[in-house]
Amino acid sequence: MRMTVLASGSKGNSTVIASAETRVLVDAGLSCRELLKRMKMANEDPAALDAILITHEHVDHVAGLSVLARRLRIPVYFSEPTHRAWVRQMTPRTTMSYAQWLHHVQKEKEARAALDAVETADPEMCEKSGSIQIAAAIAEDEEDALEAVAKRDPASLPAVEYFQPGTSFCIGDLTIAPFTTPHDAADPCGFVFESATESIRMAIATDLGYMPPNVRSALQRIDVLLLESNHDLEMLKDGPYPWAVKQRVLSRVGHLSNDATAEFLARDYDGNATYIILGHLSETNNVPELALLSAEEAIRERGKLLGNRVLLAHQSEPLAAISL
Ligand SMILES: [Zn+2]
Ligand SMILES: [Zn+2]
Repeated sequence: MRMTVLASGSKGNSTVIASAETRVLVDAGLSCRELLKRMKMANEDPAALDAILITHEHVDHVAGLSVLARRLRIPVYFSEPTHRAWVRQMTPRTTMSYAQWLHHVQKEKEARAALDAVETADPEMCEKSGSIQIAAAIAEDEEDALEAVAKRDPASLPAVEYFQPGTSFCIGDLTIAPFTTPHDAADPCGFVFESATESIRMAIATDLGYMPPNVRSALQRIDVLLLESNHDLEMLKDGPYPWAVKQRVLSRVGHLSNDATAEFLARDYDGNATYIILGHLSETNNVPELALLSAEEAIRERGKLLGNRVLLAHQSEPLAAISL
């Protein structure tokens, strides 16, 4: 099983999780172009991805989502409230007259019919059905047509699947357990991934205001743990953020400080992981060395040094793939 962190931080998050048979991308928080570039750099084949999973609708987790999903033609897994919040976010807030709205709905219908015609891909049928012009145009450059639909409906995706935090689901040979996280989004979650064939467990837990009991128990028996270590408390307090933003980050629905992460590692963490990757570090209110030192000290206090290698995920470049 493999985890490749393509990017981590408030400017974009994305991670590949791969088992023997299944590959998923968790979050798509960089532009499609940048995500494809990062995958190339990290030797991850975008064409091999089976699905995209979304933790929550904040832009640093979804910036490239619609374009990437349409390009790769793979389904996107959300919780229903997260999907709804994302659609609302993607829909331009224009005021339309009733006539304009009717026109818009009609155009959408036509575009959908054109897409359906291509999906049922029988050229003869297309000719007979009278949608020959549209079908031919799409056949010529299907991607352009897809993007044309996207312009009218920026939230259109190849397929949407819903999961519920707290209820496990499967994609191929991966079992995925989404768990609710305390964060200021519609229905935020983290994920535990388990491969049936390899009995390895990997987890992603970032964007957490604090460590509630359900997250602490979800993070037991994890072999590779991507864990938030967002800010240094003093740097945040003395730093340049406006008061309201400082309050948000510090709140119980904001982000984990180095201290809070260390407290979890020292008190509640079971010492099981081969690798702990610190992620979602603030570029303004943290220093990588501080986060690393704080986590390493916390683990040292546990007296279990076997395994437990602490690594730092980066904002600007992928972290080398971790395979177990
Ligand atoms: Zn985030
Ligand atoms: Zn967030």
